Amino acid sequence: MEISFAGKRALVTGAGKGIGRSTALALARCGARVTAVTRTQADLNSLVQECPAIVPVCVDLADWAATEAALKDVGPIDLLVNNAACTKLQPFLEVTPDQFDLLFNVNVKAVLHISQMVAGGMKARGSGGSIVNVSSQASQRALRDHTVYLIPSSESCCVIIRPCSGATKGALDMLTKVMALELGPHQIRVNSVNPTVVMTKMGRLGWSDPEKAQTMKSRIPLGRFAEEEDVVNCILFLLSEKSSMINGVALPVDGGHLAC
Ligand code: NAP
Repeated sequence: MEISFAGKRALVTGAGKGIGRSTALALARCGARVTAVTRTQADLNSLVQECPAIVPVCVDLADWAATEAALKDVGPIDLLVNNAACTKLQPFLEVTPDQFDLLFNVNVKAVLHISQMVAGGMKARGSGGSIVNVSSQASQRALRDHTVYLIPSSESCCVIIRPCSGATKGALDMLTKVMALELGPHQIRVNSVNPTVVMTKMGRLGWSDPEKAQTMKSRIPLGRFAEEEDVVNCILFLLSEKSSMINGVALPVDGGHLAC
C-alpha cells in the first residue's frame, strides 16, 4: 500500500529515539515536512544529520510554559504523533507524588497541551487532520507478568512495579476517545496505537532479562515482540487517508496479546 504525505506538515514528539525517531524519518520519506520534538539536543543533531529536511525543536514536554514557547511558531500542522513518554520503575507502595506528577505531565498532560495547540489550528483553518497517540497494551490489561517486572540489578533481583505508566496509558486511551468525539465534527481524526514490547531504550529497561522476555513472548500468539517498523506502519496508516473512516480506536500492535 503506497502512502504519500506530500504537501503535509507533521509533528512528532519524542522523536529523538525509538519509535518516535523512526516515525519522524518514515514520515519524511513519505514526503511530509516534519517537525521533530524531543528534549535531548544531541538526538536532534543526529536526526537532522540523518535527514536534513527535518525541523528540530528541543524542549522538555514536562514543562507546560516551555512547550508553549517552543511550539508557538511551529506553523500549521496536518499530522500529529503524540509519542513522547517516560516511565519509572518503582514498587507500587513507594511511588511518590513527584514521580506520579512527572509521568502524568509527560504521558498525558503534554498530549492534551500539544493536541490543543495543533487541533486548535486545524479547526481554525478548517483543514481537518489526523492525530495518533502512542499508547500501550498496558492500558488495557493488568496482567501480573506485564505490570510486575523482575529487573536484575547489580546487587540482587528486585520486584519492580510500573503502576503509574500503565495508569497514564489508560488515561491516554480515554483522552483519545474524547478527542475523537469532539474533534471529529471538524474532520480531525484521533486514534491510538497500543504496542506490545518493542526493544527500544524504554523496552530494554523492562525486558532485557531473557527469562522475563520469554514469559511475555509466550503470551503473544505470534511469539515475538514488535519491531519499531510494526508500530510505525500502523501510525502511518492511521495518519493517512487510507484510514479515513477510522476515528477513536485503540489499535493493538501486539501480535494478538490482548485477544487472549
Ligand atoms: P524511548 O526509546 O525511550 O524514546 C522516547 C523518546 O521520548 C525519547 O526521544 C525521549 O527523549 C523522549 N521524551 C521522553 N520524555 C520527554 C520529555 N519530557 N520531553 C521531550 N521528549 C521526551 O521510548 P519508545 O520505546 O520509543 O516509546 C515511544 C512510545 O511508545 C511511548 O509513548 C511509549 O510509552 C510507547 N510504548 C513503548 C513500548 C516499548 O516496549 N518500547 C511498549 C508500548 C508502548 P530522552 O531520551 O531525551 O528522554
